[in-house]
Amino acid sequence: MNVKITIMGCGSAYGVPLIGGNWGKCDPNNPKNRRLCPSILVENDDGKFIVDMGPDIRQQAEKYNIQLLDGLFLTHPHSDHIGGMGHLPALMYYYQGCNLPIYADRFTRKEVERNWWYMFDPKINVEYWGDGRPYFSEIIPYYPMKIGEIDVLPFIQDHNSMDSLGIRIGNFAYCTDIRSFPEKSYGLLRDLDVFVVDCNNEFDTDKSHSYLEQSLRWAKELNAKTTYLTHLDHTMDYDTISAKLPENVHLAYDGLILECD
Ligand SMILES: [Zn+2]
Ligand SMILES: [Zn+2]
Repeated sequence: MNVKITIMGCGSAYGVPLIGGNWGKCDPNNPKNRRLCPSILVENDDGKFIVDMGPDIRQQAEKYNIQLLDGLFLTHPHSDHIGGMGHLPALMYYYQGCNLPIYADRFTRKEVERNWWYMFDPKINVEYWGDGRPYFSEIIPYYPMKIGEIDVLPFIQDHNSMDSLGIRIGNFAYCTDIRSFPEKSYGLLRDLDVFVVDCNNEFDTDKSHSYLEQSLRWAKELNAKTTYLTHLDHTMDYDTISAKLPENVHLAYDGLILECD
């Protein structure tokens, strides 16, 4: 199953530069340092879906031609991952005669419904722009599922204050917003072709996220052929950090395309 993965955003919660133009340690002249909120697009002939819908989704959707999707997979309810869901009524313009499934666990669903109560309350006549509707489909971690016809395996990650979901598709895995792996999840990730993993900071300064030393240890232990670090904050200058990485580990950048079996 060949899939194409597009990194639509590899930034951390606040993107790079931060609001007001704060580039931190990142060189503003390197376009690879300009990072939108974390989201990926997964597609092949069998389906097309996105993982997370953060506050930058409007720009991402324009750049990567996101209209009709087979689904939306949510990893967890932090605002950099669900903050763009207010655009669903306008996105539904493209859904004539079909609905959009939102795959989420119970906790994430509850938080989305709490934030955008007016979009999901059947008593309220939301002005969706097409006749289709978004609806929730519950993710059961560790049970294989299909989005479109793409086989997907969701698994639990420890994100400190809450769990997040990782996702494996063939020999590719996307593990954003993770502090540590439960043993059961870690065991699912050996010998990947492409491993995309959280590395919010160079040093251990954010207890909800991974950092360089730990992410590199995971990449090595799991024996991934190629690893890309994502969820990069404004201290992670592309050239400075890249110079410290082993040959088969790279920083992600917005627009990066990965092909995987
Ligand atoms: Zn995040
Ligand atoms: Zn998070």
